[in-house]
Amino acid sequence: MSIHRAGTEIVNWYLLEEGGKVTIVDAGLPAYRPQLGGALRAIGRTLEDVEAIVLTHAHIDHVGFSQLLQDERGTPVYAHEAELPQAQTGKAPRTEGSWVSAVLHYSTARKVVFHIVRNGGARPPKVVRVGAFADGDELDVPGRPRVVATPGHSPGHCALHVPGEGAAFMGDALCGWQTVTGEPGPILPPREFSNSMTRARESLARIEALDAQTLYFGHGDPWTAGAPAAVAEARARDARAT
Ligand SMILES: [Zn+2]
Repeated sequence: MSIHRAGTEIVNWYLLEEGGKVTIVDAGLPAYRPQLGGALRAIGRTLEDVEAIVLTHAHIDHVGFSQLLQDERGTPVYAHEAELPQAQTGKAPRTEGSWVSAVLHYSTARKVVFHIVRNGGARPPKVVRVGAFADGDELDVPGRPRVVATPGHSPGHCALHVPGEGAAFMGDALCGWQTVTGEPGPILPPREFSNSMTRARESLARIEALDAQTLYFGHGDPWTAGAPAAVAEARARDARAT
């Protein structure tokens, strides 16, 4: 089994490989589709080996090229049941803060939003067929990730635990850097892009309990010092900020 990071300095997406078969975990932005061939080559695999796309949540910088690949190859796409409305309509649920004011006040937020818009995020695709999963499911896809519901950033946000790798995909439940202020992480996602900070804080307990040494973020470099230490840092930063 192996995990391979792809994407840009702004947005990560991942390949989870097991026995020569591949799950795409989050699919970057729509315009990242051309990155897929190179990412697969880097682990010695091809498009034929891709069996599924699994989404931590349905924000556009994670749905990415899902629909393109489903159109091309019929690739199954999976997300938590509470993420299906956004995945299938492209409409994001209400957030606690205004991303417009974030863009006005923070250069990092400007950089992130402009990058998303330039890479196909202005008109989010609607994913036609999305299979629903639920908290606690072990997904029957390469790597067999286990679903750990971590709502807050979005209503059905999930982390994906890969016990065999001692790793977990965080999506944006925790970030490697804060996507509005640019503050280094591990850190909670910004309220301007999040549905409920109260729930996001509550979800930290579930991340803390994961038997995972390495955390892979939607944004930023992997964390290798274990889940409890990552959550401790995020809580300390949150306490200083509020
Ligand atoms: Zn994101």
